Formats: sequence, C-alpha cells, structure tokens
Amino acid sequence: MELSKRVSALSPSSTLAITAKAKQLKAGGHDVIGLGAGEPDFNTPSYIIEAAAASMRDGYTKYTPSGGMPELKQAVADKFEKDQQLTYKEEEIIIGNGAKHILYTLFQALLDEGDEVIIPAPYWVSYPEQVKLAGGNPVFVKGSEDNHFKITADQLEDHVSSLTKAVIINSPGNPTGSMYTKEELKELGETALKHDLVIVSDEIYEKLIYGDASHVSLAQLSPELKEQTVLVNGVSKSHSMTGWRIGYAAGSRELIKAMTNLASHSTSNPASASQFGALAAYTEDDGSVETMRQAFEERLNVVYDKLINIPGVSCVKPEGAFYLFPNVKEAAGKAGYETVDEWVEALLEEEKVAVVPGSGFGSPDNIRLSYATSLDLLEQALDRIKAFIEKKT
Ligand code: PLP
Repeated sequence: MELSKRVSALSPSSTLAITAKAKQLKAGGHDVIGLGAGEPDFNTPSYIIEAAAASMRDGYTKYTPSGGMPELKQAVADKFEKDQQLTYKEEEIIIGNGAKHILYTLFQALLDEGDEVIIPAPYWVSYPEQVKLAGGNPVFVKGSEDNHFKITADQLEDHVSSLTKAVIINSPGNPTGSMYTKEELKELGETALKHDLVIVSDEIYEKLIYGDASHVSLAQLSPELKEQTVLVNGVSKSHSMTGWRIGYAAGSRELIKAMTNLASHSTSNPASASQFGALAAYTEDDGSVETMRQAFEERLNVVYDKLINIPGVSCVKPEGAFYLFPNVKEAAGKAGYETVDEWVEALLEEEKVAVVPGSGFGSPDNIRLSYATSLDLLEQALDRIKAFIEKKT
C-alpha cells in the first residue's frame, strides 16, 4: 500500500528504538532501569479520580461542546487570572485532548504550505513533525549550552525571513529543564512583535520549577505580547494526569474559533470524564501538586550532584521539568565511541540503564535522563553510569 507523502516524511520518535531495546532486555529477565519516562511516576491525586468517577455515575457520559465544557473553560480562565494575572474570556480558550493535540490543531489552524516556524534547539521531538504535518518548515536555532540552551533575541532576529510565521518558546523546556528570565523574554518578545510573529508559548511544565526560579509567560509582559501569544498548558505534568489527555490553549478569539472548528471534525471533544477530572484539579487542591514538586526537587538535587562528579560528564543545572540533559561527548569519545547514540546503546547493553540520546532533540552530544522515578532507582542508575564510564577509560 502506498502511504501519503505526509506521513512518510515523519521521523520516528527517537525514544522508540531505545525503549524497544529496553523492553526486549527486560523480557529476557534483565534488571533494566529506565530513565526515559516523559511522565510523572505518581498516580493522579485521588480527589481528581473521585470527581471523574462521580461524573460518570451522575450520567455525564455524553458528547460535550467540541472546545470543552464551559465550566472547565471558566476554571482554566480563573487559573490564568490567579496564577498569571491574565484575563481570558471563554471564547479565547479551547480545551483539547492533551497539549500535544492542542499544538497539532494550532499548527493546522495557523500554517500554510511553506510557512516557517522557528524552533529553538534542543527541542521537544513533536514540534518539528507537527509543523511539517501542517505544511510548514521548521527552522532550528541552536541555544548554546553556555547560555543554558536558550536562544537570544539576536539569534531569533538572524533567523527571521519573509516566510516566518511563528516562534515556539518552551519554558521550562523539555529536554533541558531551562527557563527563560523575564528580561530574556522581553527581548525575544520585542523581536517577535517587530516581525509580527505568532508566539507559541508551551508552558506545560509551569508548575514544576525549583530553587529560586519563577515562571514568567510572554503573555504577561504587555497587552501587545498577550495578543501575539498563544499560551499552551495542561494538567498532564502538573497533576500527574498524562493518560487523561487534557490540555488547553488561550489566544485570540479568531484562532480559538478556527481550532474549535477543526476539533469538531477531528476529535468531537476531549473525554467527558477527563474534563470533570481536570475541573476538580483546578477547583480543588489537596496539596499533592506541591508534594510532587518537592519530590522532584529532592531527586533533582541528589541526581545532579552525583552526575557532575562523574568524569567526562558536564551538566547545566535545570530549573524546571523533570529531566537532566548532560553532555557526555567527552566520556563517549574517551571510551572510543564515535557518537553518543552508540554510547547510549552500549550503556543499555552493558549496564542495563536506558537513557534517551540527545540526537532526537537536536543536540547529539547530550543525553536525556528523566528523574520521574524513585530516588533509590535513580541512585542505582547513576552508580551504573559511573561504573560504565570508569571501566571504559
Ligand atoms: N509540550 C512538551 C514540551 C512536552 O514535553 C509534552 C509532553 O511530553 C507536551 C507538550 C504534551 O503534553 P500532553 O499532551 O500530555 O498534555
């Protein structure tokens, strides 16, 4: 069967090969520690589960409006007001099936064939593929490791062309955990405004931030920037609700209406029970979001200290999300591997630790370690990585 050019051009997920191999080893009885997870390891807080179950028992098991239930949109608007002092009306918000599908719908609604979207690298793997699926062309801008993988306004300026339609800012970022400061965002925002670029602000890790870091959105910086920004967020990471598939966007009424039209012909609506779960997540609070954040922060500090004491490994300390993105080029080179991808494969085969190679995120000298697993397993994994490096040098 001949498949469409559109899907044939899709790159497979970089995590797939390593995950498949880790699974195979596990099935063969090997004690594999997986640090590839892109989701919190905690169960969803029980008050959310109870609310969703109650909604189903009460008969709320039917289609909802395509762009989400009005009560949930209102709860999201209240969250924006409370957390970020941003005022959005109901018609400026869409609820979708996870932030991933919200972004997919957004690019479909925004891009025409040949439009360019500036994507800072390292980037989350789905951005380039989603842009390409909408007929757009990703334009990568590399954030230097010295600048904590962040791009500067000058770099943005250098990559703008007459075809540039949008720029993506993901702070805190996946895979780096880096966060843009208010000053950096101001400068990027000025450049975006100068060239009339739509700013796609992916804030899915907003609630997972550590140390002295504070989260700022481009939409908060001025009324002009708010108008230019589409803010994307969701409950997956903050409330450990990855399987529930609830994400949302806030932006101009025109864009949200177009996205809602698209949703009406593709998803119909996000699952009704999931919407009731998300409604509880935003209207009640049992402290578990903060408890989970603290657990992540504790793990980050333990793992980071261990990591930077391994010879041949350097690591920018992340301020958010639940990933570390160390540079292991030196360790891989000293051990005789030509690429970090090969080093990652050998680490899995010999020490049974699965990490994700940075090549899929546009940064081939790095690896991504997720600390969304128990402290005990993390410490064991770090010991194995250290032993692997020491035995090879
Ligand atoms: N954006 C980033 C940067 C992510 O890392 C993820 C998930 O891994 C998403 C968006 C999508 O999250 P979800 O679709 O679960 O809401």
